[in-house]
Formats: sequence, structure tokens, C-alpha cells
Amino acid sequence: MAKKKTSSLEEKLTMKGESSWANADKKTIKAIHDFSEGYKKFLTICKTEREVVDYVIPLIEKKGFKSIDKYKKLKPGDKVYQVSKGRVLSMAVIGKKKLDDGFRLIASHIDSPRIDLKQKPLYEDTDIELALFKTHYYGGIKKYQWVNIPLAIHGVIMRADGKKINVVIGEDESDPVFVIGDLLPHLAHKTQGTRTLFEGIKGEELVILAGHIPLSEEKDAKNKIKLHILKLLNEKYGITEEDLVSAELEAVPAMNPRDVGLDRSMVGAYGQDDRACAYTSLMALFDAKTPERTAICYFFDKEEVGSIGATGAQSNYIELSVSELMSKMNPDFKYSELKSVMANSHALSADVDVAIHPVFKDVHEANNAARIGRGIVICKFGGARGKGGSNDATAEYMGQVRNLFNKNKVPWQSAELGKVDEGGGGTVARFLAEYGMETVDCGPALISMHSPFEIGSKADIYNTYRAYSAFFAEKEL
Ligand code: MN
Ligand code: MN
Repeated sequence: MAKKKTSSLEEKLTMKGESSWANADKKTIKAIHDFSEGYKKFLTICKTEREVVDYVIPLIEKKGFKSIDKYKKLKPGDKVYQVSKGRVLSMAVIGKKKLDDGFRLIASHIDSPRIDLKQKPLYEDTDIELALFKTHYYGGIKKYQWVNIPLAIHGVIMRADGKKINVVIGEDESDPVFVIGDLLPHLAHKTQGTRTLFEGIKGEELVILAGHIPLSEEKDAKNKIKLHILKLLNEKYGITEEDLVSAELEAVPAMNPRDVGLDRSMVGAYGQDDRACAYTSLMALFDAKTPERTAICYFFDKEEVGSIGATGAQSNYIELSVSELMSKMNPDFKYSELKSVMANSHALSADVDVAIHPVFKDVHEANNAARIGRGIVICKFGGARGKGGSNDATAEYMGQVRNLFNKNKVPWQSAELGKVDEGGGGTVARFLAEYGMETVDCGPALISMHSPFEIGSKADIYNTYRAYSAFFAEKEL
């Protein structure tokens, strides 16, 4: 085939954007698919923030990472981790330079939108003889997407005797699953047909079916079906109804990650926002062998509800964990030096972006929207209504990051979340930037983001890993 003619001036002056797949040789395509196998395994096991922490700690310990309290002093090449409340994790490989010169941080979040059980969830509808769980959803969801799909319940229950019970029901093939039922179309026209899409299912209508066999031997009991469910929970976990008050029970899709498309180019799975970035940054940290500057990965909780609370990016955790690192690297460290260390540091706010949906292109402005398979997305700013509430990365840092990716032949694209004034969103970026850290949002683009089954390109996942690995390895930055 004759080579297509190109204008040399166009070649020189215009920005390219091409499918990462089209440019990949056979070896790279194999590497992309191989990488996605480990990724899918991670997503299969890790469906809650606690499960990520519980899964990752043994994994990093095998790679030589030790809890910070095992170290008296930290030296270059040491691998260390810190954990708080079982839900936020930081991991570091100590670099050659002193921490005073700043560190290199990749911050992702390990919580995902889901359906939480209320603290008094269980009730019996005596009229129609069903036991049900009341819920309060977590994060930004389209509620109608969570009905009629198999759900598993994951979480912990603190019993009256102080014992912590881990719960996972619905993942094993032999387990029962749970479901939020919807109304049949024949009868839905008046009730749901006049509602807006977002209100098709309302918050209090997200009610989970729990069972319907009455405990017939308890003749005097008022709610025999509810009692039966409590008896089953008591037999399995030794709990009573009051114990559910001190529980975190999360209903998540009882579906495992799958390849999507005949060409198997995509991964479909729950929780890719933002475990795609958690996994890829962890793999990148494993590549960091005594880096120039200390390489740190943070896995934050609570991003989906505004990064609040003791385990969110707005907490003091980041200051406490960095100062603990600093005092182990330098016994003369003073807390007052912390802020300048932060300000000398560089961060990637590792979070997913949205890819153009083939049907709903109109919410985007095509020139500044992400396409699936086009590489990692650099997102200078987010926010809503005039960049409100957003980190806005400096031109200087944007320049450094794009040069870094170009130098390492990492496919990348520049995008924002949607059209101006169409909507908006935030990440942990602004909370890192508040320390004066150079920060930019950077991660793969997903289709069907925040749904129970999000879609990502395997090539983008792989290239996100390569981008993060290059960031930790870079000497100049
Ligand atoms: Mn996210
Ligand atoms: Mn999100």
C-alpha cells in the first residue's frame, strides 16, 4: 500500500492523537493483555476500601515493604508502608535525595460508589411477608442502575464483645446474592414513567430483598421472617440486631471483571474508579528501585463523598504520615519543616476521567474530551461553573509531565470532564495542591463511569502503569 501523503508542515505543527492499539507491536499487545490479568484479579478480590488494604499489605510485604514501626531509621532503597484505620494506606520507596528536596507522590482513592446498609437496616413487611434491608447509597450514582443486578454484601461488624467480624456474602458461587427489585414495565407507566430518569428509583426505594421464610416454631414472635434472618446472622456471625448499628456493610455488584468486546480490548468491572489508578500506581512503585526522590503512593478513602473524614485526603493523615517518614529519615527533623517539604514535592492525582460515550457525545467538547484507548488522560483542571472548586495545574508542571510522557513514549491525551457548564467533578488534586505541591490529575478514561460495571481499555490501563512508572523513575523532575 502506498504511504499516505502528509503535509510536512502539518506533521511539524499539529498535535497527534492516535489509538494506542494501532501503534502497538505484537510484543506490546501481549504485554497489555498480560497486565490486565493481574488487574482483573485485583478487582475481583478488592471491592471495598478495607479489602484493598487487606489484600495489598501481604502483597507489598512479599516485595520487601515493612511497616514503619519496624524501622528505627530509613535509608535510601528502604521500602515502607503506613496504614490508618484499615482504610487508608501509604507506601514509599526511600530515594537517594533527602526528603527536604521533596518527594514524588501518586495519590489515588480506593473507595467506590456503592449501596451502604443503614445502621438499622433490617425490617419485615408483614403485609407482603418479606424481610428487607434499608440502604443509604454512597457517592454519586444513577440509582436506577443498581436495581435488578446481583449484589454481594461486604464489610465489618463490631460485636458487643468487641470482636470484629468480616463479612462477605455473595461472592462464592454457592453463596446467595441480594437484589434491589424494580417494578415491571406493565405497571410502571404512571408511577415511574412520569418521573425523571434520576428519580426513576428514589433513595428510599433502594431496598434490598433479604428473605421470606418465617421462623414458624417461634409462635409468639411478631416478625417471624425478620427473626429468621436475625437467627441466620446469629448462627453465622454470633451477632444480634444491635450489632448492626456498629457495622459498615456495603452492597456491591456480585459480578467479576470480564473482558469486553470480541477483540477482548476492554475490561468491564465494578470499582475501576479508582482502583485502576491504585493498582497501576502500586505496580509502578514496585518498579521504583532506589529512586532519585522518595516515591510515595497514597490510597485514600472517602473521595467519592468529598474526601472528608479521618481517612479522606482532607484529613491530617498526609501530614502525619510524611512527618513520620521524615523523622525516621532524619532524627533532627522538626515538624515546622514539613510544609516546605510538601511544597517542594510533585504529585499526580491519580484518578480516572470520563471517555466519550459513543451515543452521548454532546456532553463533551470534542477537542478537549478523552477517548478510550488513546492513552492516559492529563486533566489540567476540573470543577464546575468556571473551574470552581478545582485544582488548576500550572503550565510549568503540565509542560514537565507531557515532556516526561513523550520522552518515555507513553501515549497521553489532554482532556477535561465535559463541556463548559455541563457538569463537573473533583478529585483529591486540590487537597494536595493546597500544600503548594505541583499537582495534576492523571489517569485512564472510562465509559459508564460510576456504574456497577465500568469499562476501561486494557491499553489505557497498561499505559497508565507505564506513565506512573516513568514518573517515579524520572531524575529531572
Ligand atoms: Mn475517582
Ligand atoms: Mn468517582
